[in-house]
Amino acid sequence: MLLGCGDAATEASAQSEGVEREQSEPQAEESTEVAEAEPERDGPDPALMREQPIRCVVPPVPIPRPRACRRNGYPRCKWQMPHATTSRGTYRRWRNTIMEHWWARPALIQVLLASADAFERRYPDQVLAIGDLDAPGPRHATHDNGVDVDLYLLGAMLTENAGRGRYPDNYEGKSGEEVRELRDRVLTLAKILTTCAEGKVRIYYNDEPVVAEYLAWYGEQGFGESPFEAPMVTHNRLHRFHFHMTIAEDLAELPMPEVDHPFAPIRRPPRPGDAPHLSSMSRR
Ligand SMILES: [Zn+2]
Repeated sequence: MLLGCGDAATEASAQSEGVEREQSEPQAEESTEVAEAEPERDGPDPALMREQPIRCVVPPVPIPRPRACRRNGYPRCKWQMPHATTSRGTYRRWRNTIMEHWWARPALIQVLLASADAFERRYPDQVLAIGDLDAPGPRHATHDNGVDVDLYLLGAMLTENAGRGRYPDNYEGKSGEEVRELRDRVLTLAKILTTCAEGKVRIYYNDEPVVAEYLAWYGEQGFGESPFEAPMVTHNRLHRFHFHMTIAEDLAELPMPEVDHPFAPIRRPPRPGDAPHLSSMSRR
C-alpha cells in the first residue's frame, strides 16, 4: 500500500468557540496567496505564540458539503476544503490540485482548518499549501478513503517541487541557523497537525533530523498508542517536498462554530486524459 502521493506533483479567536484538542504542554506553532506586503495582524506576536500551547479551533468559515451529509456518512458525505479566500488566507490550494480533489471526511477538513489557523498565528509569513485530499486515480496509491492529504511549506521543506521535474534543495548554501529556523517551521506544522488530530496521524517526510525530533516530542505528549506503526516515517523520494498525512478513520470530530454551511454536490473529477495537467504531473 501507500506508494506515491504528493504530486510530482487567526485568529479564530482562541478565546471563543470550543477549544478542543489542546497540546498537553507548552509548545508551540501557515498561508495563502503569496505573502503580501503587510498582512494586517491584530493577534499576539508570532514569536510569543510559538511558545504557547497549541489550540485547535475550527474557524468560522462556510464548508461546502452535499445534502447527503444530513443522513449519510462517508463516502456519500464528504466536506470540501473552503476556498482559501474564505479562510482569511491561512492556506492556499496546491497548484496541481483541482477543486474536485479537495473533498474528504469531515474530521480531516476540521483538522486542516484548525491547523492552518494555529500555524498562521505562529508563522504568518510562511506559505502553507494544501494539496490533494480524496484524489483517486493514477497519481496516488492512496488518497481514496477520506483520510489522506498532502501539505507543502513552500521554501521551508528539504526540497521544492518547482515543476517541470526540478527539485531544488531549500537548505543548500544556508547557514546552520537558517536551516534550523526552516526545520522549526516544518516541525511546528507537524506538531500542530498531530495535536489537532489527537496523535492519530501518520506523516511521511524524509528529513531525518525532523523525524527524530518529532518522534521524541510525540512520545512526550501522552497521546497513547498511535493507530499507525509510527506517527512519522520516511518514505519514497517524493516526500522531500511535502508531508503526506493520513489520519485515523475513526478520529472524532472537533466542535464546530455556528456557521451556515452551503450545500454543494460532490463532482466527479475529470479523467486524467481529459485534464492535461493531471496526467502530465502524475507521479509514479
Ligand atoms: Zn500523498
